[in-house]
Order: sequence, then structure tokens, then C-alpha cells
Amino acid sequence: MRNKYGIEHNSPPSLELTTMVGCPLMSSFCPQKTLKSNYGKQEKYLKISDLKKILKKIPSNTEIHFSGMSEPWANPDCTKMLKIVLELALM
Ligand code: SF4
Repeated sequence: MRNKYGIEHNSPPSLELTTMVGCPLMSSFCPQKTLKSNYGKQEKYLKISDLKKILKKIPSNTEIHFSGMSEPWANPDCTKMLKIVLELALM
């Protein structure tokens, strides 16, 4: 399959999930201060209800990656989110 630029690719679509903005681990090399200044100082969590809305809108062959600019499991609901994704066989 070719994309709109004519480049051949065979990998399925993918979605990178950031489960929260404002990682509490604050690794020294990570630009969390910049992120927090742009998104507000409070940590913001992806909600399970929003994840379910997202999953309804993506192709069934989408690869889901728990990643992004935070440690995914800093969101206390991350294991529940992983279970939901696995039940849909989207990983
Ligand atoms: S996102 Fe990763 S690298 Fe950045 S502070 Fe969190 S755990 Fe550390």
C-alpha cells in the first residue's frame, strides 16, 4: 500500500497513547517542565471513558502503543486501560 506521498508501507496504522500529561517522575533529562508550562502545572490523566471513545474511532488493525511524554503506569488506571485494549485485540 502507498501513502499519499507515494511511499510504500505495509505496517498497520498505529496510535501512541499518552496516559497522562505531566509525568511525576521528573527525570533530569526529560523536558517535563516545558510540558507542564504548556499544559498547566496539574497532572492530567487520560480517562477510561475517553480511551473507549478513542478506540471506537480507530481501525480495528491499529497497533496501540502505551508511550508518549509520561510513564504510562503513572496513570493509576493504566492497567485497566491495557486490559481494555487487550480485550479488543488491538495490540
Ligand atoms: S516521561 Fe519518562 S523520561 Fe520523562 S520524566 Fe517520565 S519517566 Fe522520566
